[in-house]
Amino acid sequence: MDAFGYAGRILLVDLSSRRIETLPTSDYADRFVGGRGMATRLYWDHVPPRAGALDPENALVLATGPLAGVPVIGGSRLFVCGKSPATSPEHFTYCNMGGDWAVRLKSAGFDVVLLQGRAERPSFLLIRDGGAQLADASDLWGQGAIQVREALAARLGIETSVVAIGPAGENRATQSCLIASSDAAGGAGMGAVLGSKNLKAVVVQGPRRRTRAARPEEMQELSGYFRRIITPSPMATAGGVDLRIAGPQSRKAPCFGCLGDCLRWDYQSKDGRRGKFMCQSATFYQPMAEMVYGRDYEVPFRANKLCDEYGLDTMAVTLVLVWMIRCLRDGILTDESTGIPISRVGSVEFIETLVRKIALREGFGDLLARGVEAAAGSVGPAAVQKLTPLLARAGLPTAIDARLYPMVWLLLAMEPKLPLGHTHEITRLVLRWIQWRRGDKDGYVSNDVIRRIARRCWGSEAAGDLSGTEGMALAARMVQDREYAEDCLVLCGFLWPVMDSQFTEDHLGDPSLESRLLSAVTGRHLDEAGLARAGERVFNLNRAVLLREGHRGAEDDRLPDHWHTAPLKFDLTNPDLLLPGKGDEAVSMKGKVVDRSEFEAMKREYYALRRWEPATGRPTASLLRDLGLADVAAGLRTLSSPGPS
Ligand code: SF4
Repeated sequence: MDAFGYAGRILLVDLSSRRIETLPTSDYADRFVGGRGMATRLYWDHVPPRAGALDPENALVLATGPLAGVPVIGGSRLFVCGKSPATSPEHFTYCNMGGDWAVRLKSAGFDVVLLQGRAERPSFLLIRDGGAQLADASDLWGQGAIQVREALAARLGIETSVVAIGPAGENRATQSCLIASSDAAGGAGMGAVLGSKNLKAVVVQGPRRRTRAARPEEMQELSGYFRRIITPSPMATAGGVDLRIAGPQSRKAPCFGCLGDCLRWDYQSKDGRRGKFMCQSATFYQPMAEMVYGRDYEVPFRANKLCDEYGLDTMAVTLVLVWMIRCLRDGILTDESTGIPISRVGSVEFIETLVRKIALREGFGDLLARGVEAAAGSVGPAAVQKLTPLLARAGLPTAIDARLYPMVWLLLAMEPKLPLGHTHEITRLVLRWIQWRRGDKDGYVSNDVIRRIARRCWGSEAAGDLSGTEGMALAARMVQDREYAEDCLVLCGFLWPVMDSQFTEDHLGDPSLESRLLSAVTGRHLDEAGLARAGERVFNLNRAVLLREGHRGAEDDRLPDHWHTAPLKFDLTNPDLLLPGKGDEAVSMKGKVVDRSEFEAMKREYYALRRWEPATGRPTASLLRDLGLADVAAGLRTLSSPGPS
């Protein structure tokens, strides 16, 4: 295949046999585009459905997109997938990261890396000059992820990007993550997967290159257009680091190929140590530490760096500590019973003890490392009761409340993990609508603008009434197809899709921009509908992967019970619980629950729109054939329960 947009090769590494092979990217690029698409297809092709997350047969797939290396647009991210030990039961899931690892991988000659098997001894993989080799990492085993990152960079030279695990990954804690040179990938326990493969790090060496475009002037013009219409995200200012407190040494720390309109900040602590706050980690341990030490970043920064060094996901640790606080209040857990000073939450002592015990699996930490649900189950029913309202689904925290946003019902019910990119389409707009309602000088997202966006991006004007359910099944389908396509390009969910703009006359953004950029880079025409179709293909493939691994289709497409029964009282980002309704209305969602019959009706409508079996929720064979996935349909037919027709 031509070199435009792609490095041209996929790297397959069998760690057990030390066999290293390559495949041509062109075998996958046409149908699966890149990133999520290629990674999911490779997973389908290589991982037996019954493989356990920590078995050698599981694969960890690291995939770039065709826009990685394009300046300014925030498309140089990395998509990561594999079977997750953090979900219950274990199943396929994914996460992604920024920084510059993806662009360095592509510059070194590969679009995707698939790791399978288990190395005989602790090792790291070194990728450079179009090749790869395994090297001994016995001296690095047991070290912190930052320490390893720095040791490998010092050993190999400055043009090096590292993805590493800390002791938490080695010890297979379900909260473990991948720590990269300037980012991390959490939420799926992938650090444990790498640890189970005896792999301490994956290192890419060589210069970072910009992507060669088939039509460079057009690509440049479109990047400039993106810069002109993109509006600073309200989420960037809704939390994170306040520079007035962080001090003059702190600064923005964007990923490669991005201007950094987000929560990523490089912070310098009082002892001169530097490090990044990244997305959710920008708020990690902040409210708790503030209660003890006042508004200051020293302790949250220290807590962040502890998690990074041990290789723990700050979001997963937050879930653990919130649950422990709730248990402490009712005497279910105590400092004595856990050996963790829960009563001193907010202190350095508490966070140091908690993360060390989880990462090293000491005492109560061993129970926590198996997953917060398993831990609660072992403690007893009262502990489970304290956990349930915190979960969106098994093992996954609630970051967005379905009772507040009817449009997210199906988005949350269908995904193997919390689909934050999907829900950002709605929450980002609502935050801007709140700015407009309170008369902020930059507020521009009125009810009218939302209706226009609904017509353009969600399939009907009715979906612009965000408080209702009309049009939401179609909207959910369109959001999913678009977001899956965005993940094939591995575009940042903070910036994309560009649905609205402060700088256009009608305040509409331009959701055709991704397909136009892709066409300019690869030289192959794909319009907005074509890209959404690719998203639909990958979404259905994702569904097939889950079904093959035991997802029960319609039976498992559900929301947690408490959202159907406990009335909505509070939301951190939308404290007044207001949504745009019909006309110029603002509708209060206070006291709402997710009505079961409305949810089931929406699901039925959605299955019909998807051409899925109404009773089972499985993609029909004819749909899969139309999507170019006839072999996937055949694979699903071999499942024991009745297959799709
Ligand atoms: S917006 Fe932030 S997280 Fe997204 S690509 Fe840019 S710097 Fe990275």
